[in-house]
Amino acid sequence: MLEDGKAVMLLKTDARDKIWIDAFAQAMPELEVRLWPDMGDPSEINCALLWGPPPELFDALDNLEVIFSIGAGVDSLLTCPTLPTHLPIVRMVEPELTAGMVEFCLFHVLRFHRLMPQLETNRIARHWEELTQAPASEITVGVMGLGVLGMALARQLTALRYQVIGYRRGPGEVDGLEVFHGEAQLEAFMRRSEILVALMPSTQETRGLINSRTLSWLPPTAYVINAGRGDLVNERDLVKALDEGSLAGAALDVFETEPLPRDSVLWTHAKVYMTPHVASITHPPTACRYIAEAIDDFRQGKPWPNLVEPGRGY
Ligand code: NAP
Repeated sequence: MLEDGKAVMLLKTDARDKIWIDAFAQAMPELEVRLWPDMGDPSEINCALLWGPPPELFDALDNLEVIFSIGAGVDSLLTCPTLPTHLPIVRMVEPELTAGMVEFCLFHVLRFHRLMPQLETNRIARHWEELTQAPASEITVGVMGLGVLGMALARQLTALRYQVIGYRRGPGEVDGLEVFHGEAQLEAFMRRSEILVALMPSTQETRGLINSRTLSWLPPTAYVINAGRGDLVNERDLVKALDEGSLAGAALDVFETEPLPRDSVLWTHAKVYMTPHVASITHPPTACRYIAEAIDDFRQGKPWPNLVEPGRGY
């Protein structure tokens, strides 16, 4: 039992086995780590840290008590048909992951706000033009998804004097922000968002939420940044809006299909800044400290942190 016995962790990583093993050796020297698929006696395993588990992984894990997700997003777990959803599933929330996402999104907000794409085009054309730039305090950034990452971003944007509004699934005030929620308030939220940052999970409700109809609600020269999941955005609709000029630009880190197919127009579209799903990657040293603390707390009778609700999809 994890509660009073030894922790034996099954590890199925994002191709960084050694880095994770070294990080656990630092954060939890008493932990026994076993790598999938050479895991020895599966009945000895009582916890697992996973990324994209294959269905057969759970076959003989009869004494598994808790699952940790390597990613903040849990779609790679929830799409596994054999996932034991009756067990606690703990989402990854660690400071370096949050900091990385804030940096990535701030970079793109600043880049669009300070008209860097146009200035870069002008530079290449040796065209000298002093473009007029609005102050941050006159620009509204809409943060779509006000969870751990969205809230951390909203705080930094506010500190930089942007007007920040937020959108979430359920009602509820957050930290003095103007918050919209649910389908009924999506249009009002989009109409105000001059720079839209999508930081929502991939769920049945969010898939394709950014499409021709909802994009048409954005102000005329809006920008879209998607660092949540690729299927939040209908890529065909997005490209159409960019080509027609109703959308000024997009920064995309995540895509409907990953890796992005070589024939996708998104690689080279003049108004798109694409990156290969690198906005923020879990940092094993801090992630292992988070897991060690969660197990310690559990042993002292405290609840698991940041639990996934499989029914709602995140
Ligand atoms: P989180 O704390 O679970 O927050 C999710 C937010 O999305 C919540 O505010 C939630 O609303 C909102 N949401 C969920 N479904 C919605 C819906 N149907 N309509 C409106 N809002 C909805 O997650 P997080 O830690 O901030 O991470 C967000 C996502 O970022 C992850 O799921 C992952 O997909 C992505 N991510 C990407 C990278 C990358 O490198 N590109 C790295 C890490 C994470 P409530 O507040 O009402 O619950």
